[in-house]
Amino acid sequence: MKTARYRESNPPSPVELRKGSSSLLLRDKSRSNKVRRRKVAVFDIDGTIFRSSLLIELLEALILEGVFRANVRKTYARQYSRWHDRKDSYEKYIDAVVRAFDSHIKGVREKDFAPVADRVISFHRNRVYRYTRDLLKELKKKDYYLLAISHSPMYVVGRFGKRLGFNKVYGRLLELGADKRFTGKGIYEDLIFDKAKVLKRAVEKEHLTLRDSVGVGDTESDIPFLKIVEKPICFNPNAELYKAAKRNKWRVVVERKDMIYKMTNNR
Ligand SMILES: [Mg+2]
Repeated sequence: MKTARYRESNPPSPVELRKGSSSLLLRDKSRSNKVRRRKVAVFDIDGTIFRSSLLIELLEALILEGVFRANVRKTYARQYSRWHDRKDSYEKYIDAVVRAFDSHIKGVREKDFAPVADRVISFHRNRVYRYTRDLLKELKKKDYYLLAISHSPMYVVGRFGKRLGFNKVYGRLLELGADKRFTGKGIYEDLIFDKAKVLKRAVEKEHLTLRDSVGVGDTESDIPFLKIVEKPICFNPNAELYKAAKRNKWRVVVERKDMIYKMTNNR
């Protein structure tokens, strides 16, 4: 079995580990030298940085370019209309998109799929929110270790995250068969669908610290990592996440048009 490309980005170099005054020092007994623990900032991608869903854009592009049949669109058209007409939730629409992708990716050749993913990112690479884009830049300057966790496929989030300067990106990994066609199965699904587990794993693997950590998400699937970080930010939250924000007194930030609203009623 061969796995899809873009598993994880490389760990930081020793130079990166030494950089930054904000880091904490610890003694690495196995190597008897000092290793700095960098602060971590964790971001969701779709709806938090990207002003759409990378999976939706990928699926639409696969249909437009003939990799998926056009009638695949029918399987999520109703949920799209119901969301578009504000009769049902965005989450139901996304769930229908995920089902459509998962049930049609089996048998597709990687060589037909990967160039479409490349073109999706080239086309949409700057379609980002100002607030999170600027926050990323600010945290990068402060030497935070930037971590992205997304449920969209790594073929798109890996490329998108790297362009934005993330140190490491976690997304869904698609299994490839020996014939270089997708099997329709995912790899490490239990890990990627638990964003708290992903964050804890990265903190341990990359020698990070949760002290002064920052987390930004837009839906309830981000709650597990928002509960762990010291500075959780609910950005353009959906109803479920907003409820959690009220309950936990988390910061809420909303961006509409060219305005950014920072809610002070929570904190
Ligand atoms: Mg999201």
